[in-house]
Amino acid sequence: MKKGLFTMAMLTTMLATGCSGSKEQPKEEKFDYNVEKFADLQLLRYRAEGFENLSLQQKTLVYYLTQAALEGRDILYDQNCKYNLPIRKTLEAVYENIQKEGTADENDENYKNFVVYLKCVWFANGIHHHYSSDKFRPAFSQDYLKEQIAKLDPSLLPLKEGQTVEQFEAEIFPVIFDPAVMPKRTNQAEGEDLVLTSACNYYDGVTQKEAENFYNKLKDPKDPRPISYGLNSRLAKVDGKVVEQVWKSGGMYGPAIDRIIYWLEKALTVAEDDMQKAYMEKLIDFYKTGDLKTYDEYSIAWVTDTISKVDFVNGFTETYGDPLGMKASWESIVNYRNDEATKRTETISSEAQWFEDHSPVDKQFKKEKVKGVSAKVINAAILGGDLYPSTAIGINLPNSNWIRHEHGSKSVTIGNVTDAYNKAKQGNGMWEEFVIDNSELERMRKYADLTDELHTDLHECLGHGSGRLLPGVDGDALKAYGSTVEEARADLFALYYLGDNKLIELGLLDSPEAYKAAYYSYMMNGLMTQLVRINPGSDVEEAHMRNRQMIAKWAFENGKKDNVVELVKKDGKTFVKINDYEKLRGLFGTLLAEIQRVKSTGDYEGAKTLVETYGVKVDPELHKEVLDRYAKLDIAPYKGFVNPVYEAVTDKDGNITDVKVSYDESYAGQMLRYSKEYGNL
Ligand code: ZN
Repeated sequence: MKKGLFTMAMLTTMLATGCSGSKEQPKEEKFDYNVEKFADLQLLRYRAEGFENLSLQQKTLVYYLTQAALEGRDILYDQNCKYNLPIRKTLEAVYENIQKEGTADENDENYKNFVVYLKCVWFANGIHHHYSSDKFRPAFSQDYLKEQIAKLDPSLLPLKEGQTVEQFEAEIFPVIFDPAVMPKRTNQAEGEDLVLTSACNYYDGVTQKEAENFYNKLKDPKDPRPISYGLNSRLAKVDGKVVEQVWKSGGMYGPAIDRIIYWLEKALTVAEDDMQKAYMEKLIDFYKTGDLKTYDEYSIAWVTDTISKVDFVNGFTETYGDPLGMKASWESIVNYRNDEATKRTETISSEAQWFEDHSPVDKQFKKEKVKGVSAKVINAAILGGDLYPSTAIGINLPNSNWIRHEHGSKSVTIGNVTDAYNKAKQGNGMWEEFVIDNSELERMRKYADLTDELHTDLHECLGHGSGRLLPGVDGDALKAYGSTVEEARADLFALYYLGDNKLIELGLLDSPEAYKAAYYSYMMNGLMTQLVRINPGSDVEEAHMRNRQMIAKWAFENGKKDNVVELVKKDGKTFVKINDYEKLRGLFGTLLAEIQRVKSTGDYEGAKTLVETYGVKVDPELHKEVLDRYAKLDIAPYKGFVNPVYEAVTDKDGNITDVKVSYDESYAGQMLRYSKEYGNL
């Protein structure tokens, strides 16, 4: 499971703009986080913070693993849609030819729109939007592309054996230009054949029914430790028979997987310790055999290693892109622990029992013995596959339920990526537009980055793990309201304790003012600014967003008699005004107790009333105002990252003596280089 920028601590993080000069270190002043902006996308850069402090062996290990992380790039393109690779190759050939001939004309709308389209395709690893999964609508003409292709040496085109350029164009042009052809990468609309109507390449020639039958036959409902059926294969109909085409060495995607294995085997020679070696060997074995039992063994070995400084994910991991939720897209992240930041999560985790004992929740709903989840903060060294350029800011793996239950999971926050998000938001104008006055603004600039991180830590390490169900209560009793209530529980736990002196005693905060920054940003977000992600006329649907609005509105309504929070007008604009922070904390505590009661007793009606009353409906007038004010700020709603560049320095015998990191590669430059150096399919 991954925690995207837009989930969990989502908009509190997203809107944590500000120009905090106080925490800035001198070396960061030269570092430019912003790369470029186009369409609805913004490219940023992140720093491999602390990489220089790794040992040579660790640096070498990271270097090999970054190579393995890039070798699978083409796999994801093909998984997303079978036309993605030929289309990308064609667009790149055209783009490079234009640059070579020096005919790029910035005044030519066709050229400009062509470049934007190519950049969008790179961003989405294909022709469908990475978030909405809708197909891009090119704003350049079909004739323009045809003209440009005519200027190319046909050997630069990905023609199939015996295929003419005309036949090739007839094949791919409708896929690019006809909105009715493959309109959605992953279709989730109820009532349709989700497999046939999805453009992703996880199924070929089979219907949803055939796919479901195929896997239902394999599954044994009594197996307590089932493998992740279908995770690493395409399901296709060959000669009238439904078969799995397995992604492994010698199988589908074999050439890319062999390159991954090559680098993993090199990495094995510089592994930090035996635990790390053990899971790397299992992973290599899995790539060679495609055996999902081996994959489970790998996952267990991986989750068991909490010691190694360097860690990585490389494989078929998340199943969001498959309409049936079985087949996993390929992704990779290489990272190393941020020991300083990890101390923070460890401090919180080690006090788990204190927090549980002192919460405002009724005693019968508390855990007598609570175990804090160990969560570490990491720095990403490279992002690959389905984590690039758009990435999660937190990851919790493995996904297999029984492995999580029996062996636990690793929960990580990607520190340097979160930091880059925060830095890049400085001065985007969001706070200046929506925060009521300078004193709130100053406080947020000073504390919001830190309180936001602490909010995430408290939410993840303690909030979700706190409390207990009464005996006999079904964990699914709250049904559709379950995840909203669960997120609210974790958020309220975090909010309540952000205002507690305990955090100052533990040295996690240095001022009794700090929590107010978090409260203001939470209320502003829940009452107003998160509405920027809702279309006019729509309700709030997503669970995390419902949770935030529910908490903010509940506190707003229930604090009215004491005038705790107001919405006030200034120059025709609406602002959140918090009059009494201490009372607001009391309200969060009261709601936490109530939410925990709802959860512990499985009170479906109680959950429904809370969520429907406070979390769903939007005031259309305020919504319109927020959208209008947001539109004027011209902020790209989606962000992604350009990777650092790693260069191995070798002696005359080819031994690595150092690994250098640089940050000056452009977005297009990086994409074109990746296509050349890692174009394995
Ligand atoms: Zn959560």
